[in-house]
Amino acid sequence: MTFDAVVLGSGHNALIAQAYLSRAGLRTVCLERRGVAGGGLTTVESPFRPGFVHNTHSFFHRGVNRMPWYRELELERRGAVYIEPELNVAMLLRGGGVLEWWTDFERTYESFARFSRRDAEKLRRWRDEFIPIVEEFLIPESQSPPVPEAVRAERMGPRLLEVSRLAPVEFVQREFESPVIQAGLLFFNGLREVDPRAPGFGHHIPALVAGKGRAQMCRGGSANLARALVRAVEEHGGEVRLGVEPRRIQVENGAVRGVETSAGEFIEARLVLSGLNPLQTFLDLIEPGVLPEDWRAKAAGFRFNLLAPLFSINVELSAAPRYGMGGADPFMVILGLDHVDQFREIVSSHEQGRVPESRVMWGACPTVFDPGQAPEGAHTAFLWEKLPYGLRGDARNWDHEKDVHARRMIRKWAGYAPNLEESLLGYFTGSPLDTERTLVNMRGGDLLVGALSGGQSGYGRPFEGAGEYRGYVKGLYLCGGSSHPGGNITGLPGYNCARTVMGDLQN
Ligand SMILES: Cc1cc2nc3c(=O)[nH]c(=O)nc-3n(C[C@H](O)[C@H](O)[C@H](O)COP(=O)(O)OP(=O)(O)OC[C@H]3O[C@@H](n4cnc5c(N)ncnc54)[C@H](O)[C@@H]3O)c2cc1C
Repeated sequence: MTFDAVVLGSGHNALIAQAYLSRAGLRTVCLERRGVAGGGLTTVESPFRPGFVHNTHSFFHRGVNRMPWYRELELERRGAVYIEPELNVAMLLRGGGVLEWWTDFERTYESFARFSRRDAEKLRRWRDEFIPIVEEFLIPESQSPPVPEAVRAERMGPRLLEVSRLAPVEFVQREFESPVIQAGLLFFNGLREVDPRAPGFGHHIPALVAGKGRAQMCRGGSANLARALVRAVEEHGGEVRLGVEPRRIQVENGAVRGVETSAGEFIEARLVLSGLNPLQTFLDLIEPGVLPEDWRAKAAGFRFNLLAPLFSINVELSAAPRYGMGGADPFMVILGLDHVDQFREIVSSHEQGRVPESRVMWGACPTVFDPGQAPEGAHTAFLWEKLPYGLRGDARNWDHEKDVHARRMIRKWAGYAPNLEESLLGYFTGSPLDTERTLVNMRGGDLLVGALSGGQSGYGRPFEGAGEYRGYVKGLYLCGGSSHPGGNITGLPGYNCARTVMGDLQN
């Protein structure tokens, strides 16, 4: 069987890359080990209650309908329709009170001003200053292959360079006075993406405040984005094969020849685009001796995020959680956070492999905005908590502690939504180990598929030399979240990789 390109894994990045190549007339096939395409775009029906659907991996898709690939691959027409609730994020405080982020900045300003007028003014100033930086530098940077660090530093300009040198925690503590606002900004704009102590990411917070991308959800569930992408691939003549695992990427005379599957089939192709992590791509799938030792050593040194793993609880409810806020329904809710110092404890508990005392949780009730995700009148909701992968040094401990932890989360949740327990019909959980079992590229449950700190960002992602999506041998490319600009549902590693491949084909 001969193709132009074999794509490994069907994460959204891989599907985006494949759709572009197929659209350009190449014969493509994607090999996915699971029985369903889409990786972190998973929506499943409850095994216990028909009609209740749950998004067990990604749910909050930031600004997806502003992405170039969303438009160019006509994904709305293909079934991926996005909803962007107005009260986008609400951080509910233990002693009452709410810090709110609205799609309308003026309403966010008003909410911040209730905690500190000075901080609200600061927020406005940072937003105004960063709008041109985001539009003219940061968005184009994320939507293009990365450039060497020295070139980047020259283009950044002094202000962005200065702010980016800070760690997110330094940024919030230097610029804002209210502990609630400090904590909210750090959580919302920082902790979800990078270690708050890591220098080099201070600009993330003002960039996210200034950016137009807000939290969105895909109508019908996250898997509808995957289905739309598969449609785009197939309508352009590409194939997606499920339940197929690659065993080896064949290389001859320094160039890719094809992929052998674990069932023994050989698929000939001059291009292989891997949506897997660099350990899988370079160490598991390519025979030793093909790549230079220093390249293999760099792949082996690729680090995963200590702070990324999540514990999830998905619930089925007879009524939506009532938070007693009045007014608009909140989309993302953050519970249990009101002071920046809680981050220190969360970070140290990850380092020590224990459950933090601070029960900081966040999630949503999708059916408030998209009632079709549950039977009429009923609801689904979920909460996530950052918890360590190696619980007391061993991830397998999660298998017998999941339920205990779920009950702790429900008790805490009910403290904010008093109707929760009486409405609860059933629930299930997912531990960091479950994440890794389902999506094996997310080692250590790292849902961002590789740390951004320690030089693993931009041109250095996944490691020096592999930062332009090219994988040493001719015809081998990297197109997953382990490449620039990183994990999450951005589609940009796949988009940038496709452009690199097509550029190479023209030369
Ligand atoms: C619980 C959870 C919640 C999340 N929430 C959000 C969120 O709200 N917002 C957000 O933006 N991001 C979220 N993420 C992160 C997001 O899902 C990932 O960063 C993103 O999916 C990575 O995309 P990707 O294209 O690199 O590949 P992935 O989505 O990781 O997909 C990789 C694919 O490759 C397949 N694969 C792996 N190994 C092999 C192999 N050897 N052979 C064949 N196939 C293979 C996998 O089965 C999978 O289908 C969440 C993740 C998790 C786990």
